[in-house]
Parts: sequence; C-alpha cells; structure tokens
Amino acid sequence: MTNINDLRAKLLEEKARLESELSGVGHKNPEIKGDWEPSAPDLNNPTADVNDVADSIEAFEGNAAIEVELEARLLEVDAALARIEAGTYGICRICGTAIEDARLHANPAAPTCIAHREG
Ligand SMILES: [Zn+2]
Repeated sequence: MTNINDLRAKLLEEKARLESELSGVGHKNPEIKGDWEPSAPDLNNPTADVNDVADSIEAFEGNAAIEVELEARLLEVDAALARIEAGTYGICRICGTAIEDARLHANPAAPTCIAHREG
C-alpha cells in the first residue's frame, strides 16, 4: 500500500533538486511568489563584440526553455505537496478515484489516474 510519507519525502527531494537546477538557469521573480524567470544575459557590456552578444542570446534562449520546463515541473510537485496537506492526495482530479500506487511511485506528482494521464 502507498506510504504517503515516502511519497512526500520523494516530492520534497525533487522540489529541492528542481529549485537548485532553476537557480542555475534563472532566478526567483521578486514580485510573484513561486514564479521564476530565466536569467538574462548582460547585453550592455560595452566590450562584448557581435559574436559574444549572439552567443549570450542563444544561451539565454536555451536557459529560458529549460527554465520553463523546470518551473512547470516544480508547480506540479508543489501542487502534489499541497494536496497532501489538504488530504486530497492520490485522488484523480478527473474521475475522483484513487490513483494507482504504481503510478504514484513512478510519478509522485501525478494528478490523475493512468486512464486519465495526459499526453
Ligand atoms: Zn481518473
């Protein structure tokens, strides 16, 4: 049977990992709690030549894509932790039945049962 404490520990571990990865490609938005923004390159560097600027724009676009993915996953993990607090964890949000143990162990942040998995 599912041990919520184990899954909670896994979620907290993943949250810490996501936050440390996010801090490598972005920073917390000081205005919106829980929101992250990709770190912008310094384009005002007067010594940068055209190629350097192009490189940093490319790096920024790569960072932005990674940042969006990490942030989406972090939101799922946070939502799952909130459901644990609320006592609604492990319930499919589409059909309201219990999510399969195997699915929760594979993805503790899963919001739906296997039948209602997205994608
Ligand atoms: Zn379902």
